[in-house]
Amino acid sequence: MSNNTSNDKPVINFIRHQINGDLALNLHKSIQTRFPPEPNGYLHIGHAKSICLNFALAQDYNGKCNLRFDDTNPVKEDLAFIESIKSDVQWLGFNWDGEIRYSSHYFPKFYDYAIELINKELAYVCFLNAEETRTYRGTLKEAGKDSPYRNTPKAENLALLAQMKEGKFSEGECVLRAKIDMSSSFMCMRDPALYRIRFDKHHQTGNEWRIYPMYDFAHCISDAIEGVTHSLCTLEFQDNRRLYDWILENLDEFNKPNRPHQYEFSRLNLEYTVMSKRKLQQLVAHNLVSGWDDPRMPTLSGLRRRGYTAASIRDFVDKIGISKVDSMTDMAILEASIRDDLNVIAPRTMGVIDPIKIIIENYPEGKIETLQAPIHPQNEDMGKREIFFSRELYIDRADFEEIAPNKKFKRLAIDKEVRLRNAYVINATTFDTDFDGNITTVYATYDPDTLGKNPTDGRKIKGVIHFVEASKALRAEFRLYDRLFTLENPGKNDHFEQLLNPESLVTTYGIVEPSMQDAKPEQAYQFEREGYFCRDSQTENLVFNKTVSLRDTWGK
Ligand code: ATP
Ligand code: MG
Repeated sequence: MSNNTSNDKPVINFIRHQINGDLALNLHKSIQTRFPPEPNGYLHIGHAKSICLNFALAQDYNGKCNLRFDDTNPVKEDLAFIESIKSDVQWLGFNWDGEIRYSSHYFPKFYDYAIELINKELAYVCFLNAEETRTYRGTLKEAGKDSPYRNTPKAENLALLAQMKEGKFSEGECVLRAKIDMSSSFMCMRDPALYRIRFDKHHQTGNEWRIYPMYDFAHCISDAIEGVTHSLCTLEFQDNRRLYDWILENLDEFNKPNRPHQYEFSRLNLEYTVMSKRKLQQLVAHNLVSGWDDPRMPTLSGLRRRGYTAASIRDFVDKIGISKVDSMTDMAILEASIRDDLNVIAPRTMGVIDPIKIIIENYPEGKIETLQAPIHPQNEDMGKREIFFSRELYIDRADFEEIAPNKKFKRLAIDKEVRLRNAYVINATTFDTDFDGNITTVYATYDPDTLGKNPTDGRKIKGVIHFVEASKALRAEFRLYDRLFTLENPGKNDHFEQLLNPESLVTTYGIVEPSMQDAKPEQAYQFEREGYFCRDSQTENLVFNKTVSLRDTWGK
């Protein structure tokens, strides 16, 4: 791994403490973790936290980490999501151990374990409808009531489960429930459903199954089948740990000290975005973004298209750490990670986002000079690139004012010299405007004796601005991104779709150096003084996505 912190020793969080203790007690010979996404959407940066945690633990302890698709819900899942998840995990820099696992491949086993529970009189088929089930369940303050089906003899339950499996009942007519405790203070222990009837076609098993296991039932058994030692999940499953343990302790095959144990950590929540696949799906479905990989999305594919590197995301996950405290993470932390990475690796180039023409009046007409510019000013090994200079150039509109507004102004003004980056010192003389008063052309002179050196008469030139030579310049589209939402925590709001930032994407047309013709998609560049950009991977034309500004100026 090439991230900044990977050479340091990993921080000992509570999960590593647990593992160290378990290994010291000889509870496990080695560590087995897994990343278990439900294939119902693209992965987002929250998933990256879980991926980095699970895979890094396996790496650091010489253990193994599986990729398992938790595909027990036939309705919202899709093969395209499976493919995107696989490629995102690999892009992040991880490889799962052995074959990819699917919970759906364990369907026959789940069924056998359900039979085992019925045989132990620990599960029963219940015909209460949804409304009745809710009433019987009770509330946080009041105990629930036993279902009238709770004491059905096991032989009958076995027959009923078989009929459920054969499709003899309609959807919702009955469920298989665990027989635990209707007065438990944990609602999830009040005889939770283990199996429900669904007639939908499943992407892996087709129409073979009419009953599907509930998440809680399938999840712990899948972990146990795969020999997972430390089952890591987010805090919202804390209560469900009781059910997780109950199921495994009541199945002969798994009721051993080295069975999986669940540990919960806090989710990553990022400011100014939403982090649930369901909400992200809504943005896609309602065409509020261009797709799952829209560069404004917090998805891994969106961040990647935006120009984020895998190393920067791993570094970010390292920085935020693992704990049990729920919080919102400042977007600035993520942006600092990508800036740190790109500052070191991104080749430098010049682009003008809002161009105005500048004419160097004392430069010979028809002449073009080829100049050498470093690809990275702090890294000579990256070599040099060719840039051009002639009588006609482009500079950015923001880099010229008729009169310098104050002493600190380090750009071009009439009778105020600046250096053109990698080229000569120039001095503005006059300018043209259009009917609306917008500046169209600036006229200047250059000092031929200032290429790569200060003026010989000791004049101090304070400002440096960037430029692109006009005759060889390429037109390019720039997509400038900002926060997707206007609120820090839009997900809390039911109408989160109405909180989108109307300026989250601003498209402009400008000019880039000719060397950018061959810019590779996703390759990051620093457009000097403008920010970090990468070429868009989904467009043929020269389109550059702004990854992040050079400095944190947000909100200022
Ligand atoms: P979502 O609500 O976005 O659908 P999920 O938890 O339902 O998230 P899964 O596909 O079930 O998504 O998640 C796979 C793994 O990633 C789980 O172990 C889950 O705990 C973890 N995970 C999901 N979101 C986050 C997050 N924001 N921070 C850390 N881990 C997460
Ligand atoms: Mg989910």
